[in-house]
Amino acid sequence: MTESCDSFTHRLASLLPSELERTELIQLLSPRGHSLILKRRRATLIVNRVRMFAFLFAVLTPLWGLIDLAVFSYPLWMGLATCRLLACLAFICLLLFYRPRGNMLDAYRSITLLFAIPTLFYIASHTLLGEGQHLTGLSAMVATGYAFLPFVLMAGLAIFPLTVKESLILASVLLLAQGLAGYLNWATLNWPSFAGGFWLLALIAGVTALASISQLAFMIALVRQAVRDPLTGILSRGSGEEILGLQWSTARRRNTCLSLAFIDLDHFKTINDRFGHEAGDRALCESTQHMLDNLRGSDSLLRWGGEEFLLIMPDTDLQQARQALQRLLSKGLGHRPDGQPLTASIGLAERCFDGCGDYHALLELADRRMYMAKSGGRNQLCWQDEREGERLFSLSHPRP
Ligand code: GH3
Ligand code: MG
Ligand code: MG
Repeated sequence: MTESCDSFTHRLASLLPSELERTELIQLLSPRGHSLILKRRRATLIVNRVRMFAFLFAVLTPLWGLIDLAVFSYPLWMGLATCRLLACLAFICLLLFYRPRGNMLDAYRSITLLFAIPTLFYIASHTLLGEGQHLTGLSAMVATGYAFLPFVLMAGLAIFPLTVKESLILASVLLLAQGLAGYLNWATLNWPSFAGGFWLLALIAGVTALASISQLAFMIALVRQAVRDPLTGILSRGSGEEILGLQWSTARRRNTCLSLAFIDLDHFKTINDRFGHEAGDRALCESTQHMLDNLRGSDSLLRWGGEEFLLIMPDTDLQQARQALQRLLSKGLGHRPDGQPLTASIGLAERCFDGCGDYHALLELADRRMYMAKSGGRNQLCWQDEREGERLFSLSHPRP
């Protein structure tokens, strides 16, 4: 019984997006657990796609007015043309005022506006077309075409990488708008065709949600591959610099501390020379794991280069950073293949205390102090003391 249950769960799990790791699946549900980098990349992509859609709509909306002119009589044509003009202006404003800045709030706003404009246009045009117009022939055919707008919008959601929660919210709003359009034309509503249309719209919502979630899964996997160092699995240099830039902007905006430690493992080359490159790789992974195990959730560890790491500690002043590093090092950095403890030379800098103008200056300072720790005898921490200037602190040897 347990075996068949296990195989059922296994089969079920195999249906989930295989490009994702198990721990990443939760990120498909809601944007809450998304990393800063994923948020930035997704926000940029969403705003770019909103702008592409806005451009298409801004061109096609007035063009379709020519067909209205050919098939509808004067008052109706005029009403529809006014709606089209207003919608076109709104799309142009959206195109002009939204630029990709990597901010999810901006992305949500732009997507809401993109869908609000045609939805309002749909409700207005539906009302105009329903106001006692007894259309026949070609004009009846074009009027029916207007009823397809909600389906186009719902299908359009598929071009965005969205979580389950976001897809549900957006699809519900479009379904509600469809319901509202039906309510406004209560008296003349053809019930069976309205109910059939609503059902079809709900089905399309399901399919588009699947498409949006698959896009998000693919994006999460791509971002992971782009930002992770393949050997240690922690952030690589390129993405690490982006994170540092983001943390810097946040700290400056909120006027909070930001500490940065530059960690360089001591005499690492001798591991490769004596025990081979593979043993060196294992020592690097072990050392990374030791650091990860003793980090706080808000800190970010990244591999800056070969045996060099950066530890970004937001909201942490110099004193707290020193304590955090001492705690981290008291547990050790792992071992060399001969059983000797691995040690590191560390340079520490803090945004406010060291009065750095930008994150490059902070990085340069931490790097320079790391070199001071190296030349001071290795296995040392170097930071700026309030009274005594740049000071070296010998790091206790962890027990082998
Ligand atoms: P120091 O105490 O002065 O820092 O000496 P060091 O040997 O650690 O520093 P050095 O810069 O002379 O050499 C760094 C070494 O790290 C050289 C390189 O072989 C090794 N290394 C860099 N990346 C990797 C890697 O991915 N795997 C392995 N196995 N070794 C690496
Ligand atoms: Mg080095
Ligand atoms: Mg080194």
